[in-house]
Amino acid sequence: MHKQPLVIFDTTLRDGEQSPGATMSLAEKVQIARMLEKLNVDVIEAGFAIASPGDFEAVKAVALAVKDSRICSLARALDKDIEVAAEAVSAANNSRIHTFIATSPIHMKYKLQMEPDAVIDQAVRAVTKARNLNDDVEFSCEDAGRSEFDFLCKIIEKVIAAGASTINIPDTVGYAMPQQFGQMIGDLIQNIPNADKAIFSIHCHNDLGLAVANSLSSVLAGARQVECTINGLGERAGNASLEEIVMAIRTRPDFFNVTADINAEFLVPTSQMVSDITGFPVQPNKAIVGSNAFAHESGIHQDGVLKNPETYEIMRAETVGWDENRMVLGKHSGRAAFKNHMHKLGVDFDTYESLREAFNQFKILADKKHELNDSDLLSVING
Ligand SMILES: [Zn+2]
Repeated sequence: MHKQPLVIFDTTLRDGEQSPGATMSLAEKVQIARMLEKLNVDVIEAGFAIASPGDFEAVKAVALAVKDSRICSLARALDKDIEVAAEAVSAANNSRIHTFIATSPIHMKYKLQMEPDAVIDQAVRAVTKARNLNDDVEFSCEDAGRSEFDFLCKIIEKVIAAGASTINIPDTVGYAMPQQFGQMIGDLIQNIPNADKAIFSIHCHNDLGLAVANSLSSVLAGARQVECTINGLGERAGNASLEEIVMAIRTRPDFFNVTADINAEFLVPTSQMVSDITGFPVQPNKAIVGSNAFAHESGIHQDGVLKNPETYEIMRAETVGWDENRMVLGKHSGRAAFKNHMHKLGVDFDTYESLREAFNQFKILADKKHELNDSDLLSVING
């Protein structure tokens, strides 16, 4: 079976940062972006450049720091937004402008207070403007999940003709059901005459716990870009979790006809870094990156796993970065990874203060030396 590439579009720095309480500094955003580059994500949505001067500077800094991944800024379908987004990403090796407008009756009537035809005109103007500033333009129909099908077909056909090469269909409010959402994506691809000129993307929210299921259902129906975040961070109940989508595709190659070119051994370190920076803990039973995701409690399970891991494990822990030998501690490592590694070396911290002090020493050392071995780490606490 010929496999098609699935574009992994990470929006931890944009949608993830919109989680109440998850604000990140410029330096922290650059740190996460570099880790996302190690993961080999295709597109990093670095922010919403017009939102604030700080956002603009952060997008710009990420565009300068990252070499391999494509750097994207969000922009409303307004001239000024698009100009600012284009400027913010201009230093990147590969860049994208992502513009959007709401397409559901409720959003058009109450939020935009615009007639549907005027919404189409504005979308086409925005995409045309963006294409004049950047070769790579993505267009999103905000609240697509509650939009009328015929209207979606009409507006998408027009924006593809205007030069949008990625069409994103978000379930902005987390209302969709997997079978229905997948069906809608498949129907859009079938009914829009120029659908083959664009990659269809989805962006699912987790209000009913279905973001990953809705995303995977859409991939089966022909979507070739998934928007997602580390640890499923995002507005309200969050976004689709990158690690779950990637590992579902990787674990079931018999089921999915796509591949995601992600360096999975960085999933756990990335998850821990994002958790440390945002202060949002990862629940222990979270799939893939939770501390219990590969822990076996029952004696029967432990016995089976020791004899042959495949008895109870559908994935190997080290594939996603759990094996501490594969987890390289360096200046990008977070406090949780440090604490965990020190525990393995027999060092536990009785107070938060002593952990913080040791972690600070570790960071100073890590700045001088690229990779730290166990004796380097022990020297941190021995002074
Ligand atoms: Zn979102």
